[in-house]
Formats: sequence, structure tokens, C-alpha cells
Amino acid sequence: MIIAVDGPTASGKGTIAKALAAHFGLPHLDTGLLYRAVGRQVFLDGGDPDDGGDALAATSFPDSLLDDPQLRSEEVGGLASRVSIHPAVRQALYERQRSFATQEGGAVLDGRDIGTVIAPEAEAKLFVTASVEARAQRRFLEMRERGAGVTLLEIQDDLRRRDERDSKRAVAPLVPAADAMIIDTSALGRDEAIAAAIEAVTQAIS
Ligand code: C5P
Repeated sequence: MIIAVDGPTASGKGTIAKALAAHFGLPHLDTGLLYRAVGRQVFLDGGDPDDGGDALAATSFPDSLLDDPQLRSEEVGGLASRVSIHPAVRQALYERQRSFATQEGGAVLDGRDIGTVIAPEAEAKLFVTASVEARAQRRFLEMRERGAGVTLLEIQDDLRRRDERDSKRAVAPLVPAADAMIIDTSALGRDEAIAAAIEAVTQAIS
């Protein structure tokens, strides 16, 4: 069984995907991490994330980079959103995601285009979303815990910019699959959001 979990940054999709993987006993891939690794590698190479050639070269990042704690930073998130615009970058990361999705026994993947491009045949597709305000508040608390000195307004601006870039790009834009179940987590606590997701997937596969 393939479970596709898509949605914007800080919507709670990562938390939901992890919980679904644990509940249904499936392996999980956070595909955003792959784009983050490409963004980080471009920076380490001294390249330009807006240049398709530089970004493509960075897709051969070493696997060890996936463990770099820097990948979770806002800065690298911004770089990831820029490199992910290039069709050649998306193509280069396609096979890795596709083989994870189609492994025997199934998998949970979270990202932006899992239900539309990577695994359109997924048995259950969730589109997890929340208002910019709710997402910014969550990200703000997370960042404060990590000691990052960013303001709520800076985070809101950054989320809006990233949403716009992710939704308007020509290739694999952030849009719910026609058959995706929408889960709005704006007013839900962590456990409520997870319960809603488990319920939606259980219904989809029964
Ligand atoms: O989900 P996360 O914030 O880690 O993703 C970082 C960036 O990577 C996103 O803003 C998006 O531009 C890109 N991305 C993508 N397709 C995916 C996952 C992430 O384009 N499947």
C-alpha cells in the first residue's frame, strides 16, 4: 500500500506521515529532505540555486549529507524551494522516490507531488494544509526551541514566498491530487490531526 502525503511547509504533513508509517507499519520517506540536500549542496559548491546546471550538479550530493542537521534550517528550506523549480532536478530525484514508493510491502512518502507525479496510483492520498498564520506560529515555536532568532513576521513572509513559488512553478506545482482527501490542521492539535489522518487512510483502503 502506498500512502501519499502532500502539502505546504509546516502544515504538519511530516508529523502525520511519520505517525501513519508507525501505525500501518510502513517505511517512510521525507522527500523534502532530498530537495533540501540539493539546496545545501549548491551552497557548499558555491553555485547558484537559480541556475539549472548548478542545481542539477548538486543532485549527486553524498548520502551522508542527509544527516546534516543544517538541512532543517529555514535558510536551506528557501534554497530547496529554489532548486526544486528546475525540471532536471525533479527528474534526477524521481527514480529514488519512485523506487522507495514501489518497494514491496508499500511505503509512506511526504512531499509536494507524491500523489500527482511520484505515485499517482497511491491507494491513499492526503493533502495536509493549514492557514499561513497557524503554520507560521508552529514554525516560530519550533525555531525558538532551537534557539534561532527569527520573528513571527519573518516566518510568515517566508512561508508566503515559498507557497507562491511552490504553487506557481510550471513543473509539479503544489496542488492537491483530484482524489486527495484534504486535512486542514489549522484548528487541530497534533494528536487530533494524526487521528483524522489515520481515519481518512483507513476509510480510503477499506
Ligand atoms: O517539505 P520541505 O519544507 O522540507 O521541502 C522543502 C522544499 O522542497 C519545498 O519548499 C519544495 O519547494 C521542495 N519540495 C518539492 N517537492 C517535494 C518535496 C519538497 O518541490 N516532493
